[in-house]
Amino acid sequence: MSPTEAKNRIEALTAELKQHNYNYYVLAMPTITDMDFDFKLKELAELEKQFPEFADGDSPTQKVGGDITKEFETVKHQWPMLSLGNTYNEQELIDFDERVRKAIGDDFEYVCELKFDGLSMSLTYQNGKLERAVTRGDGVQGDDVTTNVRTIQSIPKKLHPGDYPDHFEIRGEVFMHRKAFEKLNNERIEIGEQPYANPRNFASGTIKMQDSAEVAKRPLDSFQYFLYTDKQLFKTHWESLNAVKSWGFHVCEHTQLCRHIDEVLAFIAVWDKKRFDLSYDIDGIVLKVNSLEQQQELGFTAKSPRWAISYKFKAQSVETILQSVSYQVGRTGSVTPVANLKPVLLAGTTVKRASLHNANEILRLDLHEGDSVYVEKGGEIIPKITGVNVAKRQSDAKPIDYITHCPECGTELVRKEGEANHYCPNDEGCPPQIMGKMQHFIGRKAMNIDGLGDETIVTLYEKGFIKHISDIYELHTHADELKQMDRFGERSITNMLEGIEQSKKMPFEKVLFGMGIRYVGETVAKKLVAYFKNIDALMKASVEELNAVEEIGPRIAESLVEYWADPQHIEQIEKLRAQGLQMVAEEKEVVLASESLSGKTFIISGVFEKYSRDELKDMIEQNGGKILSSISPKLNYLVAGDNMGPAKLEKANKLNIPIISDEELLKMIASV
Ligand code: AMP
Ligand code: ZN
Repeated sequence: MSPTEAKNRIEALTAELKQHNYNYYVLAMPTITDMDFDFKLKELAELEKQFPEFADGDSPTQKVGGDITKEFETVKHQWPMLSLGNTYNEQELIDFDERVRKAIGDDFEYVCELKFDGLSMSLTYQNGKLERAVTRGDGVQGDDVTTNVRTIQSIPKKLHPGDYPDHFEIRGEVFMHRKAFEKLNNERIEIGEQPYANPRNFASGTIKMQDSAEVAKRPLDSFQYFLYTDKQLFKTHWESLNAVKSWGFHVCEHTQLCRHIDEVLAFIAVWDKKRFDLSYDIDGIVLKVNSLEQQQELGFTAKSPRWAISYKFKAQSVETILQSVSYQVGRTGSVTPVANLKPVLLAGTTVKRASLHNANEILRLDLHEGDSVYVEKGGEIIPKITGVNVAKRQSDAKPIDYITHCPECGTELVRKEGEANHYCPNDEGCPPQIMGKMQHFIGRKAMNIDGLGDETIVTLYEKGFIKHISDIYELHTHADELKQMDRFGERSITNMLEGIEQSKKMPFEKVLFGMGIRYVGETVAKKLVAYFKNIDALMKASVEELNAVEEIGPRIAESLVEYWADPQHIEQIEKLRAQGLQMVAEEKEVVLASESLSGKTFIISGVFEKYSRDELKDMIEQNGGKILSSISPKLNYLVAGDNMGPAKLEKANKLNIPIISDEELLKMIASV
């Protein structure tokens, strides 16, 4: 290939792949298969290697490394997003109050608000409709994350009728409730994903995701706390908060008007204690001068307003002795180090242990045996070690060396490139993994076996009745022995055996999820079953073929292929199959709601206010319509929501394809 040819080909491939990335990640409407995408990407990578001088600095090849990430569009803020001055003690707050008093006299009020621990978001509304959502970024410009923010229920896409201006900006905090955080984080741990450290990180990780359908599955919430308009509409911040509430925005009810700094200090004292009763994390309070005119008088420094300040709660901290480090092995073999501490009182509870996360954390802290450590309790339930009092270290103290072998089974631990955690690879022979695996298998979301619980699994394992999942289905051959055991009554044995027998009817997707393959969560199991239909086809699929399935990335694909490569796993699967478990997808009879769309083809693109794309897709199929994967002359209708990609629109227009709204689609369904 001549250099000119190479240059042309590189440019063409780069442009094409960028468009595909956009279709996939922004529109969630891929127009080619992942496999074709990968082929083209490979061709591009090879050409770039041969002719590096023609490679685009922003080439799609530079963004693949497991998962492709597309940068969000950068948007400049109309009003810069400044930070707030921070204070950490009452005196600093009193000093702030005095500065304000000097500037504007004694006649003013404060609004006290909670300081939500999430990420700030700027929302722009045009004629009552959400137009744009932008992250703070560096304060001057941020990322356009509108598509993701549209999935947040408490952010109105359309306002209640009201006297709001045509154009305004409103700012607030996006966050995740602690309960949702714990639930979702546990689900991540369950399938071997890295957990997030706190709800804030989970929320900001979610907002930066490429796939807004994934974002929609993670419940985020939001409180608004600043209104920006071109023309001043209100006299005070307090009035503006009440107004935006009536327009449909979520404003935190724990907001208080204070006439004097003493009232502010009292507000702080209350929330310093009550914050643990909230369902979300706050890390302090924010104080704002109420009158907008006085705000203007006070003005800004380069970094922050002079009329507002934050007070940060002190994380409660104590010093104690590190007695030892122990290592827990989870169901997926993931090893977690735990610090055992000399018991100490902290924030009203006795603390004996602290999480150390992984080997990097031990290195970061440079932990030594017998170290005197600082332990902190923030919003999190489990305290953490924040540092070491090195002055107290004995001169001969040895550094804590991370273990090399599994504390439960003695197998050498492995650590995959790019991962923080160590794993014990002996998944069929390591006791906590075996028990954890069986507990996962019988769990509510998997086989949901009646009459068999986590503790019974432990007892049955310890007594030597079950070592593998398939042994559960042989328990009936031990019925008499089981009945002899003092912990079991005859009734409970019968119930358990019946529950086990019943579970053989559970659909294949539950069986697959129950196997506990790394990264194969409930949704992934469903997708795999829908695509491959039976275990044999699934086991035969190569990494490339798996990768080509919607929502199955290279990490999951590799995990599956690795799983089938272990003869012990195959033996288990064969046993389960022989025992009568479902290894084939259920044939679902499609009962059509109507024939109103029969013979018609559709593509859904963009974001809709009332329905998810999946819901619209179901509606179309249930009424006899067909979904196409790319725009072609065969397409009858393009159902378009907001934020549809310009390329798609252009193509549809070129082919004269009618573009309809979700409402028009509903009318078509109802009209016949
Ligand atoms: P800091 O990051 O410590 O400078 O604090 C400023 C940040 O606090 C802002 O960027 C917001 O994201 C956040 N914040 C949380 N709650 C509020 C609130 N009620 N009013 C203003 N800012 C808040
Ligand atoms: Zn082990």
